[in-house]
Amino acid sequence: MKNTFGYLRDTYQNGIVIAALIFLGVLLVRLWYVRKEITTRSLIWKAKVPALVWILKLIWLITMLLFLLNIPTWFLSVASFKPLVLPLLYNTFLIVLISIAVMEIILSFTVTKSLAEQFIKRMVFLLMAIFCLFSFGFAALIFKGTFDYPSVAECNIIEMPVKGKWLALHAGEKPWVNYHGNYPPQKFSVDMVKVDEKGNFFTEMGEKNADFLCFNDSVFSPVNGTVLKIVNTFPNQEIANGPDTFNTAGNYMTIQMTENKFLFLSHLSPDNIKVKEGDTISLGDHLASLGNSGNSTFPHLHIRIQNKPVYNDTTALGLPFRFNQINRNRFGFWSGKGTPYLNRNDIFYRENE
Ligand SMILES: [Zn+2]
Repeated sequence: MKNTFGYLRDTYQNGIVIAALIFLGVLLVRLWYVRKEITTRSLIWKAKVPALVWILKLIWLITMLLFLLNIPTWFLSVASFKPLVLPLLYNTFLIVLISIAVMEIILSFTVTKSLAEQFIKRMVFLLMAIFCLFSFGFAALIFKGTFDYPSVAECNIIEMPVKGKWLALHAGEKPWVNYHGNYPPQKFSVDMVKVDEKGNFFTEMGEKNADFLCFNDSVFSPVNGTVLKIVNTFPNQEIANGPDTFNTAGNYMTIQMTENKFLFLSHLSPDNIKVKEGDTISLGDHLASLGNSGNSTFPHLHIRIQNKPVYNDTTALGLPFRFNQINRNRFGFWSGKGTPYLNRNDIFYRENE
């Protein structure tokens, strides 16, 4: 079975286009209906309507404000397929969604006289408002934790282990932005891929390892330490064959940073390991090349710090870390040089001194 990222990308792109068209349809029908009804609508503060309508309208207003806050956040940050969709399509989709929300907020201050008078319409409106409040209220909870991360003082500050511009696929504290967060030893792990100027992380259809920009890219030591363990027995697997879920790390390297801090670099290529177990290594030393080994659907680097030396020791805890002196792009804005933490969909690169 061939389920490549090229097909996945096309599916997501088409999905976004279809969803945007559906929402655009909703928007136009709503506008047409409002225009038709405009003569019977009057501003709520001018009309003599019961208090119930006021309350319903307020619920609607709050709901739509939550919608405005959460939906773009979900699509910009939490959605894991975002790197596969063209920014233009993405932005169009968000603009359509936001237009609906803004229109509903404006409409929540107007009311038709008949709506206040007709019981069934009122009940339908009430049910809709309650439904929206629940679903978007849930989104509000997600929004709340999406950008949580330990402070700079609580983090290990390490160097970027690679050169060029990279994209964080899984990163951050909460499991909905970083699936590693479901497993204590893997918490705060970052999965990253190299991107080009347009933000693409693969060319062609993503069928071959070589289609991915980070494949065979050099990995450098992000810390000073000692090489504790090297595994280089697994071949780079073909993308069409899927990940090796039995040997999750694939080829990897364990670097002891201090007595109880161990850094792991995994999914390496077996061919180009530059160091050996027991070596003392320094920041920036060339260690290996990236490959596609272990539980890896396509070439990427998995990096994490644990408080225990054995990979995935179930009693180990993942420790938070940040890259030194990076420039980070989130939602289209660059953060400037510093030690910003990484979350899903962030793009980043090391600033040259
Ligand atoms: Zn990973």
